[in-house]
Amino acid sequence: MAALLVRSGDVSACVDEAVINQIRARVTAESGRKEIGGLLLGYRDSVSIRVVRCTFPGPGDKSSRSRFDRRCASHQLAATLWWARCRGRGDWVGEWHSHPEHHPTPSSIDRKSWRRQVEHTRSPLVFVIFGLSGTFAEILLP
Ligand SMILES: [Zn+2]
Repeated sequence: MAALLVRSGDVSACVDEAVINQIRARVTAESGRKEIGGLLLGYRDSVSIRVVRCTFPGPGDKSSRSRFDRRCASHQLAATLWWARCRGRGDWVGEWHSHPEHHPTPSSIDRKSWRRQVEHTRSPLVFVIFGLSGTFAEILLP
């Protein structure tokens, strides 16, 4: 599977192929039994986002067939380590989760959660939903 490219206004985002492949493999392994998700980590400047890493569910997350609630401290820890490793150039740039449907669309809960995160960071973030076959991706601007 190729890298994922998405654009919103002047901002573009690229999710590296390696990240897509890692997530796709995990989503396929769950085969729709429960939703999973995590953070997208990478780099950003004023007009572009590049995703080069991601986090996967940890023991503190709440996961069911129709909902993934990212509560595990492991995600924030990974983001902090990434930031430190890149000497402040790396950043948390978005979030992913899975849906047990072929062509995923965001729920109203997803939309509310995404909006809250963008208001919190005051930076563009990229959100990706992996369905059983298709993928939904969007950049939200503050
Ligand atoms: Zn969702």
